[in-house]
Amino acid sequence: MNKQADPSSRVGNGNANFSVENLEWSTPMYRLAVEQLDLTAKRMNLDPNIWERLRTPQRAYVVSFPFRRDDYDTVETVLGYRVQHVLTMGPTKGGLRYDMDVNLGEVTALAMWMTWKCALMNLPFGGAKGGVRIEPRSLSSNELQRITRRYTSEIIDFIGPDRDIPAPDLGTDEQVMAWMMDTYSQQKGHAVPGVVTGKPIEIGGSHGRREATGRGVVTCMVEACRIVGMDPADTTVVVQGYGQVGAVVSDLASNVGANIIAVSDFEGGLFNPKGLDLDAVALWYRERGSFKGFPDADAISNGELLRLHCDVLIPAAVQNQINEDNADAIHCQLLVEAANGPTTVVADEILAERGILVVPDILANAGGVTVSYFEWVQGLQQFFWSEVEVNKRLVDLMRRAFDDVHAVSKESGVTFRTAAMMRGIERVAAAKRRRGVFP
Ligand code: NAD
Repeated sequence: MNKQADPSSRVGNGNANFSVENLEWSTPMYRLAVEQLDLTAKRMNLDPNIWERLRTPQRAYVVSFPFRRDDYDTVETVLGYRVQHVLTMGPTKGGLRYDMDVNLGEVTALAMWMTWKCALMNLPFGGAKGGVRIEPRSLSSNELQRITRRYTSEIIDFIGPDRDIPAPDLGTDEQVMAWMMDTYSQQKGHAVPGVVTGKPIEIGGSHGRREATGRGVVTCMVEACRIVGMDPADTTVVVQGYGQVGAVVSDLASNVGANIIAVSDFEGGLFNPKGLDLDAVALWYRERGSFKGFPDADAISNGELLRLHCDVLIPAAVQNQINEDNADAIHCQLLVEAANGPTTVVADEILAERGILVVPDILANAGGVTVSYFEWVQGLQQFFWSEVEVNKRLVDLMRRAFDDVHAVSKESGVTFRTAAMMRGIERVAAAKRRRGVFP
């Protein structure tokens, strides 16, 4: 690819301010997503017209709305976002995040990763993501419900079962999806379960969705162990994050025989070199909402947890956790990315040089969107599958995608991340070429 063809050097051909830094959503996380795209696009000699197109989201909505606190007198203004990256592949699909760090750049980066993830898994969706800038842990359930309903009504024209389908992500769960589904349905005048996935079973959710992301992560961990010659039942595993993904990953990894030696949440975590009693940890956490005071393990900070000696490290919390400051101090053989964007580009290079196999987020955590797809299909057909069937289909698709990425990585001599992105991007590019440019 000559320099002229690289979109980053095409500034001036009618797009005077089209460099990454000048875009409204240019934040470190967006720049990470673009850097990953650029590295892969160069490697695969991607058509520069398509390359440029993929660097920006097709649609980005920013809303602000009033939100009444439980005391009734306080009304705060809240920011919300929904970004749809690529509309070429079908409806767009992606989670909804409640977090204080949410901004347009973060949501855009997450939407881009959703595009590659859906294409890698061969799902008929483009990528999207949503977010509301709040601290969900500080809000009551009634407050969360009011925010969710108002946010849904602000973006109601942009979502829908054949348009854009939200799902749970950081800080949101199946209850939030139920409120979204209800708000949307009230406005349309009839029940529309297909507007969200990750719903409770009672209103059209799928068996196995709650555990799906974790199940996909552990499937990848087992496959990756095979490649590096480790027996999963003989591994020590460290998991950062103890939410919808991290807690399930710990349990399912333990079910395949792994020894979970550390877990954490945003406040810090627990470490026992002999292995944690996960049932006792789960009970403690459920009753107190914190690991503090748990008797049979040492308290540990998130910084220390990432530096522990282990066979498998699974970040399942937030982005940017493995970066240039700690990449040299990571002591695992396998890094399986359950979170989105946990590893920076520089850290990725350091880990590759050190011979650590990284199973990238767009592959490792694709189980969630895969069972969301199953949920959407089951809802459209009004024909529901058993949990055994859902789990079997999920594991089959995850293994197939893993083998595919492994094969591309071997053939092209690239990392798993580059291989996974090459697969995803080439499918999107092929669809874009077929559909052409309107008008
Ligand atoms: P969650 O809100 O259920 O749990 C997040 C966990 O991370 C909690 O234990 C929280 O205490 C911890 N955490 C938050 N901030 C932290 C910090 N700064 N340092 C350490 N720990 C912190 O969220 P989730 O749904 O489990 O999502 C976790 C990650 O997985 C996110 O990156 C999300 O985008 C990704 N993901 C989730 C799904 C899904 O189906 N829920 C699917 C694919 C990817």
